[in-house]
Amino acid sequence: MKTRHTQVAIIGGGIVGCAVAYYSAKAGFEVTIIEKGELASGTSSHCDGNILAIDKEPGFDSKMSLKSQQLVGELAKELPLPFEYRQPGSILVCETEEEMEAAHQWVKRQKEEGLPFRMLDRTDLKNETKYLADDLLGGLECATDSTVNPYLLTYSLYEGAKSYGAKLLKNTAVSNMRYEYPEYRIETDKGELTATYIVNCAGVWAPQIGRMLDIKIPIFPRKGHLLVASRQVPVSPRKVMEFGYLITKFGGKRQVDEETEKYGVALVFEPTQSQNFLMGSSREFAGYDIGINWNVVKCIARRCVRFYPKMADMNLIRMYAGLRPWTEDHLPIVSHAGHYPNYFIAAGHEGDGISLSAITGKVISELIAGVKTSIDIEPLRLDRFKKKGALV
Ligand SMILES: Cc1cc2nc3c(=O)[nH]c(=O)nc-3n(C[C@H](O)[C@H](O)[C@H](O)COP(=O)(O)OP(=O)(O)OC[C@H]3O[C@@H](n4cnc5c(N)ncnc54)[C@H](O)[C@@H]3O)c2cc1C
Repeated sequence: MKTRHTQVAIIGGGIVGCAVAYYSAKAGFEVTIIEKGELASGTSSHCDGNILAIDKEPGFDSKMSLKSQQLVGELAKELPLPFEYRQPGSILVCETEEEMEAAHQWVKRQKEEGLPFRMLDRTDLKNETKYLADDLLGGLECATDSTVNPYLLTYSLYEGAKSYGAKLLKNTAVSNMRYEYPEYRIETDKGELTATYIVNCAGVWAPQIGRMLDIKIPIFPRKGHLLVASRQVPVSPRKVMEFGYLITKFGGKRQVDEETEKYGVALVFEPTQSQNFLMGSSREFAGYDIGINWNVVKCIARRCVRFYPKMADMNLIRMYAGLRPWTEDHLPIVSHAGHYPNYFIAAGHEGDGISLSAITGKVISELIAGVKTSIDIEPLRLDRFKKKGALV
């Protein structure tokens, strides 16, 4: 590759990098995505595809998710490739009176923030599907939640960006970077290029890209497993999670057996458009390894059968694990980076990167353009970790 110049270099061709590429190219910037493998070869193809507000902390987090849901609805109309977009809402189900009480509080707080939440009782669950376990007490619903095929949405965002002139350098790994006023020089295994703007969209690898300029980015891989079953009966028409998922996500203590607690397993159940079920999930800090752990698989299967006894009859067709880019406060980093001019970070979305890809892409394009952002990004700034001492 000869040294060439691009206005905006996006490092990482996952869903976040492609969303940044789409909105930035649409805004008129000349964009190049640099991806070490294929598009969506990282976490964006090792996940499920929920665009959720139901599991977001009420307030800033849930309102940002609602905004992103609206943008994904618009993308379904404007992007060139369909991406299996559906908007059936989603539900959380409760096993105990304590969970029902916590669910009431959750619904109350979300409604105060203007989100379309409601409580569900036993009859609502029966009407939802006859396959849920009989002893469940009720749950809650968020009506706006939607679902996509994350792999297809990534490619569709890229195709959209390409129609506005964006370029892709795939199978090209960024190995080093330096700032030489007024531009960045990016070294890759295929040669060098220069850029005016950098957007670090490298997910769990964002810290390694940051380190090239001594920018500390506190993101850590949090592993999650998913099982795929072929659909033999229509067990559930839409996304269902157990209430304990919220406790696992935000780090609370649950009343479950030792292994379920150890692997952070909580039921997440998603019917896909292709007539399969995705069943998860687990949460572990296990480095960058995405190998399958059979103990986790068995634990997820048990959890699934506890909520859907009928699943015991169904065939598993595959399983996989991926790495959520975790930050300690569960919010992504969508921010300028330190003292480097025109360097942005869009990473650290943990289990919400599909949900938040659209709003992230839009906001970064606005930061590049120097215009008012669609949401307040103060809570997403990198330097919030400095205040907490995580960057020293
Ligand atoms: C089991 C599981 C279930 C999930 N379910 C959901 C869900 O239902 N809803 C939801 O919203 N989120 C979900 N997530 C989270 C979501 O998948 C992630 O937050 C999202 O995919 C992160 O996207 P990304 O673009 O930031 O990272 P990635 O998709 O990992 O993209 C980063 C890219 O950077 C590239 N890269 C790295 N280093 C370099 C380099 N040196 N040079 C060039 N390129 C480089 C990588 O190859 C990679 O393609 C789930 C995650 C898991 C693990």
